[in-house]
Amino acid sequence: SDVYKRQVPTDAANHNRKSISLLVKQVVEKNNFDTNPPDLICATRGPGMVGSLASGFTLAIGLSVAWNKPLVGVHHMLGHLLVPRLKSNGTKPCYPFLSLLVSGGHTIVVLSKSLLVHEILVDTLDIAAGDAIDKCGRELGIRGNMIGKELEVFLNNHKDQWNQEIKFDMKEPMQNQWDRKDVLAYSFAAFNSQVKSSLKKYHNSEIPKDEKIVARMAHLTMKTIFKHLISKIKLAIKLNKDKMEGVTDFVCSGGVASNILLREMLQQNLSTNGIKNFYFPEPRLCTDNATMIGWAGIELFEDAKLTTDVGTTVFRKWPIDKILDVDGWIKNNE
Ligand code: AMP
Ligand code: ZN
Repeated sequence: SDVYKRQVPTDAANHNRKSISLLVKQVVEKNNFDTNPPDLICATRGPGMVGSLASGFTLAIGLSVAWNKPLVGVHHMLGHLLVPRLKSNGTKPCYPFLSLLVSGGHTIVVLSKSLLVHEILVDTLDIAAGDAIDKCGRELGIRGNMIGKELEVFLNNHKDQWNQEIKFDMKEPMQNQWDRKDVLAYSFAAFNSQVKSSLKKYHNSEIPKDEKIVARMAHLTMKTIFKHLISKIKLAIKLNKDKMEGVTDFVCSGGVASNILLREMLQQNLSTNGIKNFYFPEPRLCTDNATMIGWAGIELFEDAKLTTDVGTTVFRKWPIDKILDVDGWIKNNE
């Protein structure tokens, strides 16, 4: 989670290793899994920090061996991508569909043609949108362990300040200019430096005492980050006309996706671009969670008949367009 990301990897891995066995022990006791185990074990296999991944994945292997139940090693981003399909009441996104996966670690636009075929249309050249939001929020004096969420609460308390005049220079990056046109990529590194230099230019490098002024700055910053997210989705749709044939469903998932302003801006801007149905998972399913990994594992097991060999390990890197291109998959034909 966000808390682990800010610590050094070994701390995070140690923390994970200590907590996971105790948590699983509780779950096993509560559900009597020792006498009546679940039918399927799903665990995240990558991408991410190997130390943290290994603690969960290795325990999952242990359970799979002990209970003699199949194991599925799940791709983290596939979890984010498929979680809106979990909802059984009502409609769910159908292939081909477009997703914006926007979290503290990733910012990608993905075109999903089927359960196993995904293409990344836009990726970030530097940091993720959530990371930029956290950095800008901190720069503007927002505190807490989930800055993005705190920032949303703060801005909701100051709705009357939104779009009010403010001396603050905030430009959307990667826009067309004389020497570059239609660059299909995100860049979020410059947002924090823009906040810094505006504070320097207009406020002696100090956070204004008046919360209302801070709210105007924060809103403009958030809005511009979200505009950047949307501009490149529109560009991806424009530059991939043939591939977008039949795409009417749109998913937005990942921690930042719980932001209501972002959801509204996406709906406003993309409905004129062929998107008819928007799927926003409920906030607790947007941030990293076990439900999404379990669900993606069930889809892989039931629809693609895939399981993972127990003699495998985790991956630091595992591109989502190469789900099957790794060792350890077992195709189960009935
Ligand atoms: P994840 O990496 O999926 O766990 O998501 C964590 C990231 O989402 C962090 O960068 C948070 O600041 C960001 N985030 C969480 N909630 C919100 C929100 N309501 N608005 C904007 N960003 C958020
Ligand atoms: Zn995530």
